[in-house]
Amino acid sequence: MKTLTLYEQLKEKLYNVVPDAELYLKAQIAEEVLQWKTKRNALILGHNYMEPALFYSVPDYTGDSLKLAKLAMETDKPIIVFCGVRFMAETAKILNPEKMVLLPSLKAGCSLAESISAEEVRKLKAQYPGVPVVCYINTYAEVKAESDVCCTSSNAAAVVEALKSDTVIFIPDEYLAKNVAKETGRHVIVPTKHPERLKDTEVEYVLIGWHGKCEVHEKFTVEDIEAVRKQFSDVVVLAHPECHPDVVAAADFSGSTAAMMRYVSESNAKRYLLLTECSMADNVAAANPDKEMVRLCSVRCPHMNQITLEDTRNALKYLQYEIQIDKAILEKAAQSLKRMFALTG
Ligand code: SF4
Repeated sequence: MKTLTLYEQLKEKLYNVVPDAELYLKAQIAEEVLQWKTKRNALILGHNYMEPALFYSVPDYTGDSLKLAKLAMETDKPIIVFCGVRFMAETAKILNPEKMVLLPSLKAGCSLAESISAEEVRKLKAQYPGVPVVCYINTYAEVKAESDVCCTSSNAAAVVEALKSDTVIFIPDEYLAKNVAKETGRHVIVPTKHPERLKDTEVEYVLIGWHGKCEVHEKFTVEDIEAVRKQFSDVVVLAHPECHPDVVAAADFSGSTAAMMRYVSESNAKRYLLLTECSMADNVAAANPDKEMVRLCSVRCPHMNQITLEDTRNALKYLQYEIQIDKAILEKAAQSLKRMFALTG
């Protein structure tokens, strides 16, 4: 595709989101990415939090963690470039051990994935023997390998329910655990802070959480929502379940990034407040030009922000940075992902 054509397409989509001069430069780099993609016979997956010019130009598929994990299993391309963060690229590798999976930047981490180690999961299992462990997909391969089943924000409650166990260890997102506990009628404890509580509690259903937090979603407050509602009484508020439970309770809708995108495109309301990552709100705004997104966006994920069009081109050009996972860990981690697919479809 010629630069001018790509630029024109991006301009049509992103005229109210990205400044014109910046867009032309990005279209030039995106064209190089597309040439390298063809040369390498590669598949590019783009998470919903990618910056708009990348999101709308080079990926073969875009979506949330769950959708991209499923798509990664279906491709016959020998190389997958994951425009997202490391745990997502690892997930693609776990599901495609024979393929080369590339992450364009080594700096693309995640505060949730880094909040818990495999050793800490082993300690939790020793503390609560026989209790099934559900790990959020935002974890590294070693943690998935220590868990019984994985989940995403869109199927977390369904996975917990499907286990049919009175007590479940749910790691590592404390707020997601609290939101899932509310949805599934469970009591929640965070044993790293109060190790004695499980013995004392008399409630029937218990979710044992961890103290991990998403450094983006933990920043939103109920006061933010109240301030926007005061200014725009008709605003529809959407919050990601990684937000504090009080924020989720004060919102009109809570769901995964894909669910939020679907909600905005299918709803008739004119004005929305998206309590999620900045670029995701930009991407939703670009896809729904007739609807207004109230910009409360001061929180760009610093890890997602590491993935640029330049890095994506270099990933394909130099075949960097390849995800490598120890075979035994990979096989165990694959079991927790496959069990999630078996439980939720
Ligand atoms: S937005 Fe939060 S959960 Fe997602 S990658 Fe960034 S830090 Fe991790």
